[in-house]
Amino acid sequence: MANSKDFNLIIQNLGIFISVYDIIRIVNPLYKTARVISENEIINQKGSCFDFWKQNKICENCISMRSYIENESFVKIEFNGEKLYIVMSVPVEIGSEKLVIELLKDVTGKIFIEDIDLSDVQLTYQKINKLNELVVKDSLTGLYNRRFIDERLDVEIIRASFSKSYFSIAMADIDYFKKVNDTYGHTAGDKVLQTFADIIRKNIRIESDWAARYGGEEFLIFFQNQKSINAFEIAERIRKELENTVIKLENFEIKITASFGISSLENYSMTSKELIKIADEKLYYAKNSGRNKVVI
Ligand code: GH3
Ligand code: MG
Ligand code: MG
Repeated sequence: MANSKDFNLIIQNLGIFISVYDIIRIVNPLYKTARVISENEIINQKGSCFDFWKQNKICENCISMRSYIENESFVKIEFNGEKLYIVMSVPVEIGSEKLVIELLKDVTGKIFIEDIDLSDVQLTYQKINKLNELVVKDSLTGLYNRRFIDERLDVEIIRASFSKSYFSIAMADIDYFKKVNDTYGHTAGDKVLQTFADIIRKNIRIESDWAARYGGEEFLIFFQNQKSINAFEIAERIRKELENTVIKLENFEIKITASFGISSLENYSMTSKELIKIADEKLYYAKNSGRNKVVI
């Protein structure tokens, strides 16, 4: 753990940045905690780092987690209901602890984005969120992308350990998808992916669950506070709905199925990799035992 001597060294090293930036904070992006640096002291921020943006949820485009994982700096724009900020994240090692320095600059009135009128708070949030979503969403399906999974799933485990809650995930893979592409073309394949994504979206709770495209025709669904049996039931609903959906293309109609593997958080020392590996093994089993099924 970093001690106060380490932090004093940070303040000294930050030097000129302290006068250039409006807010400097040291963030632990896994635990979502923040300490705010001023000229001669460091204050623990109450609550979570994302509380600063007053949206009552983890930032979708969490550049600190990205810095933490990729060991590089990133930049984004955020709104806190009042002002617009440029945020820069810089990975650092303090003591032996891996942390991220966030440099915030108030750019209200200094940056021009799509005629934003800051007095309309809701609309400004919408516009800024849309910009940030671009980085973590899959453009074909509108679901989250692989980057989002990498940046969020381990955080979900830590949050579950804090609140003594649990969750399950499903890995879903469309059956014989290559055949769709080969027979009807790539555009038809894309339509199938969009249809499946729409069905997933319709069947999960928007405020607590999320779904992402893991790659190609494979999707990951996150079920907050659901034991594996409940996740199984929701996946079954999705599976049946896909099975019964006729996908209309210009000259053809196609029907398709998908297979699912479920895994659940069994203890708080599990990693996202382990969760995904188990779900993948179940998915593999579903494929090998006839496809179009959910395996827990
Ligand atoms: P299985 O039932 O075992 O899952 O068989 P499958 O044919 O679905 O699996 P396979 O992994 O052999 O093929 C996946 C195909 O997905 C191959 C690839 O061309 C296609 N694919 C990946 N991404 C996209 C995409 O964005 N659009 C389209 N149309 N096809 C894609
Ligand atoms: Mg497949
Ligand atoms: Mg696949």
